[in-house]
Amino acid sequence: MPASVGIEAVLDQLKIKAMKTGFEFNIMVIGQSGLGKSTMVNTLFKSEVWKSPLPVPAVPIPQTLQLHSVTHVIEEKGLKLKLTVTDTPGFGDQINNDKCWEPILGYINEQYERYLQEEILITRQHHIPDTRVHCCVYFVPPTGHCLRPLDIEFLQRLCRTVNVVPVIARADSLTIEEREAFRSRIQKDLKSHCIDVYPQKRFDEDVNDRILNSKIRERIPFAVVGADQEHLVNGRCVLARKTKWGIIEVENTAHCEFPLLRDLLIRSHMQDLKDITHNIHYENYRVVRLNESHQ
Ligand code: GDP
Ligand code: MG
Repeated sequence: MPASVGIEAVLDQLKIKAMKTGFEFNIMVIGQSGLGKSTMVNTLFKSEVWKSPLPVPAVPIPQTLQLHSVTHVIEEKGLKLKLTVTDTPGFGDQINNDKCWEPILGYINEQYERYLQEEILITRQHHIPDTRVHCCVYFVPPTGHCLRPLDIEFLQRLCRTVNVVPVIARADSLTIEEREAFRSRIQKDLKSHCIDVYPQKRFDEDVNDRILNSKIRERIPFAVVGADQEHLVNGRCVLARKTKWGIIEVENTAHCEFPLLRDLLIRSHMQDLKDITHNIHYENYRVVRLNESHQ
């Protein structure tokens, strides 16, 4: 008989540890103004996955003028999840968009620096507060053509620093066929410009990862629609956009792919996004910084 180490006991310990420390997960939304980033922040927080309704005020969203973080602590089965979404002002409005990525990359690197400063203390905190951005959701305007030079430049820089999931913003302005055609053109552009978005092929750990992640890679960029108001559909209140010609339900996969984005971020890949942030992106930052200070 094979020896048993009582793996259940080890799993229980891991679970107890996770329950004590909880999860900190940080998302950032990026893209030109007017593409629905702030609306998406509310859509995420109001989504059906959280069983209790969250207190998000139903006032019209003002234009976002500076980096702004919203945090909610969600508790499920004794496990605490601290979800922070950082909203960013739109870029690309100016005639000169030179270096418009700097404030955003600056913020991302500042969070790595904060973590590094805590980590190199002789007496380190038992638990270092984690404000590092685990995933950036990048909003591509629904032009139906291809990626713009500005998006390409921004994405190239971003992907070297942080996990990035691109989405087709305001996808309700495209037909289903247009969405598919736009998606495959964006996928081609990403490939030809060596933009390695999440989930990166090179980090698939085994066959199962490869199978699951390949399916996700085929669907990225997700064609999303955001809404922060609820409407009555078949006797149920659902998050939706009401138009003259019908109702677009954001949590209905027949209408848009917001549920795929939400599930990737909050359900299936949260731990993996955190691991890649820590083991790859933060590690790259750490090596560069420590090399600098030894010169
Ligand atoms: P931001 O500048 O990227 O933060 O964009 P906002 O979230 O402030 O949204 C700008 C406008 O677009 C608002 O009037 C929103 O109601 C609207 N909007 C947001 N998401 C969508 C969407 O998915 N589809 C459509 N048609 N409009 C949207
Ligand atoms: Mg905004």
